[in-house]
Amino acid sequence: MKITKKVFKEEMIQRLKEKYAMDISDATPQELFHVLGSVVKTYYADDWVQTWKDYLTEETKQVYYFSIEFLPGKMLKSNLLNLGILDTVRDGLTELGFSLDDIVDQEKDMALGNGGLGRLASCFMDSIASCGLPGNGNGIRYDYGLFKQRFVDGYQVELPDEWLNNGNVWEVRKESKAIDVRFGGDVYMMPLADGRLKPVYENSRLIKAVPYDTAMVGYQNDVVNTLRLWSVEIPASEESKYRSLEDRRELEDLTAVLYPDDSNERGRRIRLLQEYFFVSAGVQSIVRYFKKLNKPLTTMSQSIAIHINDTHPALCVPEMMRILLDECDLSWEQAWEITVKVMSYTNHTIMSEALEKWPIELMQDLLPRMYQIIEEIDRRFVNQYRKYYEADLIERTRIIRNGQVHMANLAIIGSHSTNGVAKLHTDLLKNVVLHDFYVIFPGRFNNKTNGIAERRWLQLSNEPLAKLLDKTIKTSWRQKPNDLHLLQNFVEDDAVLSAIEEAKYKNKVALAQYIKETTDIVVSPNAIFDVQIKRLHAYKRQLLNLLHILKLYFDIKAKPDLQMEPRVFIFGAKAAPSYSYAKAIIKTINETAQLINNDPDVKDRLKIVFLENYNVTLAERIIPAADVSEQISLASKEASGTSNMKLMLNGAVTLATLDGANIEIRDAVGKENIVIFGLTEEEVYAYYHAQNYNALGIYEDSPTIQKVLNAFIDGTIPNIQFEGQEIFDSLIKYNDEFFVLRDFDSYCLAQKRIEELYQDKRRWQQISLINIANAGKFSADHTVERYAEDIWQIEPVFAHKELTR
Ligand SMILES: *Cc1c(COP(=O)(O)O)cnc(C)c1O
Repeated sequence: MKITKKVFKEEMIQRLKEKYAMDISDATPQELFHVLGSVVKTYYADDWVQTWKDYLTEETKQVYYFSIEFLPGKMLKSNLLNLGILDTVRDGLTELGFSLDDIVDQEKDMALGNGGLGRLASCFMDSIASCGLPGNGNGIRYDYGLFKQRFVDGYQVELPDEWLNNGNVWEVRKESKAIDVRFGGDVYMMPLADGRLKPVYENSRLIKAVPYDTAMVGYQNDVVNTLRLWSVEIPASEESKYRSLEDRRELEDLTAVLYPDDSNERGRRIRLLQEYFFVSAGVQSIVRYFKKLNKPLTTMSQSIAIHINDTHPALCVPEMMRILLDECDLSWEQAWEITVKVMSYTNHTIMSEALEKWPIELMQDLLPRMYQIIEEIDRRFVNQYRKYYEADLIERTRIIRNGQVHMANLAIIGSHSTNGVAKLHTDLLKNVVLHDFYVIFPGRFNNKTNGIAERRWLQLSNEPLAKLLDKTIKTSWRQKPNDLHLLQNFVEDDAVLSAIEEAKYKNKVALAQYIKETTDIVVSPNAIFDVQIKRLHAYKRQLLNLLHILKLYFDIKAKPDLQMEPRVFIFGAKAAPSYSYAKAIIKTINETAQLINNDPDVKDRLKIVFLENYNVTLAERIIPAADVSEQISLASKEASGTSNMKLMLNGAVTLATLDGANIEIRDAVGKENIVIFGLTEEEVYAYYHAQNYNALGIYEDSPTIQKVLNAFIDGTIPNIQFEGQEIFDSLIKYNDEFFVLRDFDSYCLAQKRIEELYQDKRRWQQISLINIANAGKFSADHTVERYAEDIWQIEPVFAHKELTR
């Protein structure tokens, strides 16, 4: 569809009149946003309907990506870009007297996720549509997204994220597609005359799952897929059971918040119900769709793939079994074969404490039929494999043990594919964490290194660089991220090198402005912008970063005229509300910032800026302005990481341990163009095996570490009596779980190396260029194409569209 500026302007004026009964010149940015959103929706409406019809009539195999988190951020600009009308709309608005950016600011971030996991799901949605792949998302429409973070006296305070307050222009409520979901009560199996068993439910409850669909617009390819999020309602038939306000509220709480507080029983019940709720609604609606195709159920895997993103949707396995057994009357063997062929699973963590488990009693109480089926899957698994493997191995891999249901085990046993998210991660799964499963199912394991949607993380968020790329290597990189490689030809071109630096400078000026507005801290765009943005977690080691900053501070205090490259250390991070250690680190960074930023001796050589409320939109502001990308997790702990990819794509130099995808980044750019430090994964495991890590010893041997750590407990950093002691104890008394002290010296040397490289201006520019040129490899487009071919067996649809266009 060709949309001209003229048509667009007329449409805006007309619709504003209809919706708000006013002239466009009187409209507020908020009103303009809503009208613009609804206009944009009409631009993809036909393609959305058509895409779905094509899938149906051509019986295209589709994948359904089940994820308890999606983190798309704002969608207006992304939709405009993907529709190919970003410039038309921007210019049209300018002519009407408005700025697109002001209007864009009105949109609230859709933050239905915590961090990497949800962001990955959203990058995949963008890439699946942009690659013309038939795929849909399936998740939960939380009334409140991830909390809004504020700092009060340096402490994190959590405020509700009321993202739906002004309505959500993008979603379409589809009442007619609602699904009933059953939970609670008792179930027993009643034999029928023909010998089959039929479940009879007593005292169970029904809730209504109503889908809200959001268009996932492909990049200039006419493909529009669907993200389907489910919201809970009370079914008309059950109205009488919910008499009191309390009863209703309890039910409505089900899709109220992302991560109910799981430190209490009530929160845990809600969480498990949430998982079943979106799984059951999703799988039921998929089977309903499949039945429309009039094909034998045994061929389901030729039409449907279901992806289990982390273990939260692992109940897809028993739910599919339930439907096939109880509602479609298949035999166990038939149902199991179909289920395993349809399902695939991604593991996102190696930390065993993060592997999800549910107490048997809770599962039995809330989801009795699910529990029966899981028990039977477990029983058959044990029976089948105990013939071939030792009893211990079977015991370690079975689903139900020690009174708990092990969700990862369920997902692996019930699917045909288990993948890790970076080479190192997958190797660790095969060799250590899931080794027992690898012995039984070697063919099921595979790697799919994570990726990012380069459209959002470069085209939209870094226009100065994007324009420079267009000028230097033409525009094909916008369609084919691998073409960024063409930039490599300019590695000796002084004009291009300085232009890259100028683009970066421009972005740094913009970020400095934002920092001034939001924190009142003045930073110089000539300083090194050293960025660590990610969830606050002990394993990610924001603490290591802080220890180094303190070391620099004490160096300055000891030698007031010390020559050093000025640095701005920028943090963005939320801590889980119940994670007190992570909150202590936030408080300590904030107090250290107060101390250093206001110390006249420092003379602007050091600044610490901790920006509030890290989210996708803030990431889009920070990343284009970053010089240094801090990826300093303890080797073996970060499954992949994706902010490492976003930052390299924007020309930041990576300062990293050999962890997650950092290893693949090093391989892509070459070891001269990345700064690596710290223990390797083998060295970390050697400590585990020998059990000889000794943090106290390291402390006692290093005057520098003593000086830095003592600052936590001797009042040097003010107002952290409690937090400082907690952190100090974690290192010294509890032996430093993430080897922060062991990597400290190596990290300081690496930081020194960063400074030297930065001082060699041309060298720095070249490294920056090489990072950009080699970031195409980490496009999520490639990642989803690998999933499509190896795991889902789905094919792009626009092969034929291209011909008919
Ligand atoms: C990319 C991204 C993440 C993931 O960051 P990691 O450093 O890979 O953990 C988390 N949150 C947001 C908002 C992101 O954009």
